[in-house]
Amino acid sequence: MLAADFTRLQDEIQMVNDSAADWLHLDVMDGRFVPNITFGMLLVEAAQRLSTKPLDVHLMIVEPERYIADFRGAGADVITVHYEACPHLHRVVQQIKETGAKAGVAINPHTPAGLLEDIIEMVDLVCVMSVNPGFGGQKFIYNTIPKIRRLRDLITVRNAETLIEVDGGVGLQNAEKILQAGADVLVAGSSVFKADDPRKAIDRLKDIGGEIERFA
Ligand code: ZN
Repeated sequence: MLAADFTRLQDEIQMVNDSAADWLHLDVMDGRFVPNITFGMLLVEAAQRLSTKPLDVHLMIVEPERYIADFRGAGADVITVHYEACPHLHRVVQQIKETGAKAGVAINPHTPAGLLEDIIEMVDLVCVMSVNPGFGGQKFIYNTIPKIRRLRDLITVRNAETLIEVDGGVGLQNAEKILQAGADVLVAGSSVFKADDPRKAIDRLKDIGGEIERFA
């Protein structure tokens, strides 16, 4: 939603409601974990009232454990915290699950997939950052592709049901490569909201997914 026109938020969320998108992804930034500040619970709560899709709330904030109950209360269905922001990640993941939300863990471009080895079974979703978090509209970092493959292998070996989400610079030009590497969920911001026909852009991304054997 970061790439949406915030003066027309209701229309933008309605577009997502009417589209083939599965979730609405919201990027919360605090100006500390990342240089940028976006929005907090108030906007998540407003989006929850407008959206018919589950809310996927990505917390790019320090000390996320302080706000998990609030974001759940605001309507988050998936709450993703950053590996790099959680010295006690196991406890934070438990805390998210206790609220009834699905628990996600995001990893920055420099963070190896293998660091999730001892927690992967507990995690509902791993969000692989394919840009440095903080701003929308950045270019996809291509060494994310082998990282997705390593993560897919880890999930298979552990017999886990964790979803792999890829966030940053995702669009029609790289969706197939990302999905083939083993991703389940694509986060598309600019490539959807800045498209001439956002709903069609979503359809085309979904079509690419439909052509991949794993999803057939
Ligand atoms: Zn995000």
